[in-house]
Amino acid sequence: MAFLTEPEPERGKPQAIAPGILRLVARNPSKMTFHGTNTYLIESEGGFLVLDPGPATDEQHVADILAATGGKISGVVISHGHHDHVGALKALQARIEAPTYGYPVSIAPDFTPDVALRHGDRVAHLQALHTPGHASDHLCFTDGEGLVFTADHVMAWNSSVVSPPSGSMADYVSSLQMMIDRDDRFYLPGHGPALAEPRDYVIEMRRRRMAREEEILATLRGETLSVPEIAERLYAKTDPHLQSAAERNVMSHLQKLWTEGRVVEDDDGWVAVD
Ligand SMILES: [Zn+2]
Repeated sequence: MAFLTEPEPERGKPQAIAPGILRLVARNPSKMTFHGTNTYLIESEGGFLVLDPGPATDEQHVADILAATGGKISGVVISHGHHDHVGALKALQARIEAPTYGYPVSIAPDFTPDVALRHGDRVAHLQALHTPGHASDHLCFTDGEGLVFTADHVMAWNSSVVSPPSGSMADYVSSLQMMIDRDDRFYLPGHGPALAEPRDYVIEMRRRRMAREEEILATLRGETLSVPEIAERLYAKTDPHLQSAAERNVMSHLQKLWTEGRVVEDDDGWVAVD
């Protein structure tokens, strides 16, 4: 499975990505965020919905959102409470008045949506899909015609970090299965490029997670290992950021396996139950 890449987008310039949908990429590039967070400006009846205002660190991004929408913003929709998606909300709210939408219990300590969206609820023409896994409050949004804003649940440029406590591998795998069963035709992720005909890709992502789980189990048969030791054997990442992401992925696999009674933890680390 090949990840998709793309050239650095022109900063501050909205890109028309589908009818009635503009994409504006924030200036927070990193190994975890690719070129930056995608903010989607979605035309709806009373103005634009802003899906994920972006990080708090990019003041110009809020100005770019206002310029691209002419300030006609009917709502601000939050996919999940990670700072690179919700951080710019306060700065945006200082400039416009619009209700916020999101999962009722946000993982962001300082965010409670004005309008709570649970699985199946609507905002304008979009329907919320509760997709916990990357984060417990994660929502995707579909237009009901095969297009889905997938935020950090499924991205074309990389796999998602699933990090406890707000991330859960068991939830993530079931949320991937839900996407496979839905069989949509076009994804607009929270970072990186769009993904067309995504079903095979999601099937492969799910398969990889299950394969990783089997690898972890195999590593722990007859040997007790700590999380860093497991991560080192399986991922061999030298970059400290990626190494800690690898360790958090391992931790979330172990939590899933532990709830299934397939591994236990003692003072020296984790070991498989056979
Ligand atoms: Zn995230």
